Amino acid sequence: MSRLHVLIAGGGVGGLCLAQGLRRAGVSVAVYEREGDGIHRAGYRLTMNADGGEGLRACLPEDLYELYLQTSRKTPPHQRAVVLDRDCNELSSAGHLGPPNEGPRPHTAIDRRVLRQILLGRLGDAVHGGAAATGFEATEDGVRLHLADGTTAEGDVLVAADGVGSAIRRQLLPGVEIIPADVGGLGLFARSPLTPEVLAELPDVLLDGFVIARDERGGMLAIGAYDPRQPVAEAAAQLAPDIHVDPVDPYMMISGGVAPGVTIPAPADWTAETPRAVHEGMRAVVADWHPSLRGLVERIDLDTLFWFPFRRLDPTPAWPTTRVTLLGDAIHAMMPTRGQGANMALRDAGILAGRLAAAARGEQDLLEAIAAHEAAMRDYVYPIMDLSSDHGRFGGGGLRPEGAAS
Ligand SMILES: Cc1cc2nc3c(=O)[nH]c(=O)nc-3n(C[C@H](O)[C@H](O)[C@H](O)COP(=O)(O)OP(=O)(O)OC[C@H]3O[C@@H](n4cnc5c(N)ncnc54)[C@H](O)[C@@H]3O)c2cc1C
Repeated sequence: MSRLHVLIAGGGVGGLCLAQGLRRAGVSVAVYEREGDGIHRAGYRLTMNADGGEGLRACLPEDLYELYLQTSRKTPPHQRAVVLDRDCNELSSAGHLGPPNEGPRPHTAIDRRVLRQILLGRLGDAVHGGAAATGFEATEDGVRLHLADGTTAEGDVLVAADGVGSAIRRQLLPGVEIIPADVGGLGLFARSPLTPEVLAELPDVLLDGFVIARDERGGMLAIGAYDPRQPVAEAAAQLAPDIHVDPVDPYMMISGGVAPGVTIPAPADWTAETPRAVHEGMRAVVADWHPSLRGLVERIDLDTLFWFPFRRLDPTPAWPTTRVTLLGDAIHAMMPTRGQGANMALRDAGILAGRLAAAARGEQDLLEAIAAHEAAMRDYVYPIMDLSSDHGRFGGGGLRPEGAAS
């Protein structure tokens, strides 16, 4: 084990992946996560591509990476995203984003909770739950992290992986503004069961990588299947029986589906009645749509329905490199358009883990290693932030039908 000790604020997708990569390289690491055991609701299914998938491959032990691949969605008929009209006729489509992603088990989509539990696998007491970071200070030869309970932790490097509202970024780069990103009804998320009977009656096109259906009145529904290659519990028992992964039944993630202009209550204002009322609105929108789309909406499990107010950042000009660095949404939160945020956070984690490991082995100066991560990240992420920012224009999924008004 090298003498380098890395502190990570935030145990989300990016922070945990980095922790795994550092562990794998023998670098000492501690993660400070605000939440206790649970996972906050932020969507159900992550569309994956080779950016994120290769980050996972670089960081996870082989068996946990294999578990990720086996619990990923079955390879869909087409990896593309497609826009349909309300009768399931194809209007337009776009290919899979990111580096080549082929072979017998390409990166497809993963359930967020399953991924989180795989990423937590074997990190044990390196992850501190209920530990909210509040700020940091430089010490003579490292950095001190301050936590909400008044305690501190010391390390050689601090990585802000604490998401769009990052407390660490607020102190490091106080000029960065969080931009509320109104996606209206597309911020609604729910799950609809994908039983073998449902799967058998769905038109193939609804099982493409990601599907957006829309009508001439402005109604819009985004859907993405999660039907793992191997049942989650079976794969976990076979490949990594020592880690805890909750079983999850196949589902269709559904987003959107209320009439344009309908106001959705802020999450804090939801009551026990809100999901039912919102669901009524969704059912009304699809009342005259293709029966398969209508059925998916009708069968939504009301307990899974929630609304997520998106927030994003603009690209931040280069900043002076210090022992405090950032990754993922903490520095490049973007619109959900094109499903890139988690993939980019995982890519960051893979690269930063490699750089810090090289510094730990004495192969690279520590600040040079951090600077190289920051420069690379700006290069590959900022163009995607720009691409994702015009969410409305691109129909909420990176696509729009030919001839649609911009
Ligand atoms: C509904 C929805 C759907 C999405 N779909 C996709 C998709 O299909 N594909 C894709 O690539 N991306 C998708 N994204 C984006 C993706 O979820 C994010 O980009 C990704 O989670 C970012 O990872 P992260 O680790 O940087 O941040 P997060 O996953 O947000 O993790 C940050 C962590 O830090 C913790 N934290 C916050 N504050 C503190 C603090 N002060 N101290 C300690 N811990 C703290 C949080 O509790 C959290 O665990 C989606 C996002 C949403 C909301």
